[in-house]
Amino acid sequence: MSSGLQPMIPYGRQDISEADIQAVVDVLRSDWLTQGPAVPRFEQAVAAYAGAKDAVAVNSATAALHIACLALGVGPGDTVWTSPNTFVASANCALYCGASVDFVDIDAQTFNMSIGCLEQKLKSAAGSGKLPKVVIPVHFAGQPCDMPAVHRLRHKYGFQVIEDASHAIGASGWNSCVGSGLYSDITVFSFHPVKIITTGEGGMALANDANLAERMRQFRTHGITNRRELMQSRPVDEIWNYQQIELGYNYRMTDFQAALGLSQLRRLDQFVNRRHEIAKMYDHELRSLPVISQMQLPQIRSSYHLYPIRIRESLCGRSQRQVFDFLKAADIAVNLHYIPVYRQPYYQALGFSGGYCPEAELYHRECISLPMYSGLSDVQVQYVLTALKKALAV
Ligand SMILES: *Cc1c(COP(=O)(O)O)cnc(C)c1O
Repeated sequence: MSSGLQPMIPYGRQDISEADIQAVVDVLRSDWLTQGPAVPRFEQAVAAYAGAKDAVAVNSATAALHIACLALGVGPGDTVWTSPNTFVASANCALYCGASVDFVDIDAQTFNMSIGCLEQKLKSAAGSGKLPKVVIPVHFAGQPCDMPAVHRLRHKYGFQVIEDASHAIGASGWNSCVGSGLYSDITVFSFHPVKIITTGEGGMALANDANLAERMRQFRTHGITNRRELMQSRPVDEIWNYQQIELGYNYRMTDFQAALGLSQLRRLDQFVNRRHEIAKMYDHELRSLPVISQMQLPQIRSSYHLYPIRIRESLCGRSQRQVFDFLKAADIAVNLHYIPVYRQPYYQALGFSGGYCPEAELYHRECISLPMYSGLSDVQVQYVLTALKKALAV
């Protein structure tokens, strides 16, 4: 089956308006290309949107996760825990700091880190004196992880929390926006084109603690400060306008990226609302099909970065591979999210073996992400659903 008429439908894509283009062009005509006035404006706008005190814009969410770990003091000898059902960056950030990483299995219904597994693992880690320094829940597909539960465990066991909200700008849960930091130390957003809003490449780390934000700013720019009170043994007769006081990086965002981000942010709610309309159409049809959707907790509002379904052969008589190939042949570029991180060859070489997180592995053998992006038309959604029904032969 081939659509003939329409080009390949991707699983996600950016939504760029003329206003977005104009915002970038305006910066290109200005005096600033790298970090200039648009960067702090974008930081303040995202912080205000999410309800956080401060935000640090960087050139990717990967960089944001790295400086978040550094600011929380992650280093050699420490362990960081995250979900296996995520992009590799959620785990790599710990390794960048010389720490080790471990994984907490997922919940079979929400596909987020399982609170039960987290509690169990914390109990036994406390027994052996190997508690994590930081736990990184991932708001998979845009659905916030159960943060009040994570928060309770954090108080009991004394770890710090970074929310990997790369999927979840515009989402909310338990009466607060993702990013407000009510239940965590730092929240990270991604502005990769496939995410909810984009700056090309880009990311941001939000925090309510001014010291944490300051430390992240320093790591963003080579470990350099221009605050006199932080400078050390400055010779009185020399002009020192900055000092490098620790080892940092060049993770800065350019001003034209920030201008694009600011312009995109104006349409964030509109994007998320459209994603909800699409999710409703999928939900409605999928109820009568032998596939499994992501359970949405009643206390949350997802940003629907992804719309994952599970194809269980014992339910529908079709394998994940059969449905995947059928949809591909129908010009629907479905995707899988995710291969459990520890099953990547690099992580296998670190000593993780198959079967480590059984639920995440089972999920990976069943999952397919249907197309989900604000520019997807109702007609395209119906086309996807028709193709899916044919794939399942119902
Ligand atoms: C996309 C993504 C990242 C990395 O984002 P970049 O901005 O591409 O570095 C990290 N974590 C998750 C869960 C992601 O989906």
